[in-house]
Amino acid sequence: MILADLPPWLLRTFAILLGLLVGSFLNVVIWRVPREESVVTPASHCACGKPIAGYDNIPLVSWLLLRGRARCCGATISPRYPFVELLGGVLAWAVVEVVVLRAHPSSPVLPLVARALADMALAHALLAAAFIDLDHMFLPNQITIGGAIFALLSSTLRPEVGLARSAIGLMVGFFVIYLPFIVLYRLVRGKQGMGLGDAKLLALVGAWFGWQGVLFALFAGSIQGTLAAIVVLARKGKIEEPESVIAEREAAEAEGDPLDPEDDPVALPPEPGVAGARIAFGPFLILAALEWLFFGHQIGERFVGFLTD
Ligand SMILES: [Zn+2]
Repeated sequence: MILADLPPWLLRTFAILLGLLVGSFLNVVIWRVPREESVVTPASHCACGKPIAGYDNIPLVSWLLLRGRARCCGATISPRYPFVELLGGVLAWAVVEVVVLRAHPSSPVLPLVARALADMALAHALLAAAFIDLDHMFLPNQITIGGAIFALLSSTLRPEVGLARSAIGLMVGFFVIYLPFIVLYRLVRGKQGMGLGDAKLLALVGAWFGWQGVLFALFAGSIQGTLAAIVVLARKGKIEEPESVIAEREAAEAEGDPLDPEDDPVALPPEPGVAGARIAFGPFLILAALEWLFFGHQIGERFVGFLTD
């Protein structure tokens, strides 16, 4: 079967529906993975404890029909749930546009679909990781390390990368953070400048795209993160930690088992002032990685031709 045999609307519809469903599952991942709960059981339930019926759990549609309130107890359902579902659908759609529909009409379908499914898995895993990092200021190993292994295994689906460049990219991604921001920073300032999670995330980016993707993610992620920090500072006057980070630290202290600053960059409250403000870098690395996934080809050709050999 070749690409010309499949009508584009069918591929788009299938991708958007699949993406919405995956987005709905990502809401479960974002809530449960940082709490070390199973993503499979129990079935979805409301904050009040009542199970959510299947017809109230349809991505986007249910939230709109229920006008953002739970059927059981009337509790407000955060608009973030339908937003993550929507992003899941948009990312899957974008993958189909870029990976499948831009290919030559005579291309065989199977390799294109395999590559598109892998790229969707990447985009969706990064989406979950971004929200987990925003909430908890850490990136789960299941996504970063698991994703890097999946990136190596799936590298042959991306012929322009392949296994050797994937492995090199993985090493470059890890050490470009690990050496300067963790080893050197600790030697000079006695603490680490970035979390190990960011190093593992960039290892995943490198294994997926090769080292060019690492450089772009670091460069564009830093610029976008800095701009976002400036906007937050201008509007609020300070950068606050997420509520759940403060709650987790207090809970650990109350149990008499405080977090270890060696492994946990948020073990201590931030130092006062702008210089001590902490901002999760993961979401900005992820935003840049997604930009590279969808626009890397154009960016590579037009602006940084030397990065794509
Ligand atoms: Zn309820």
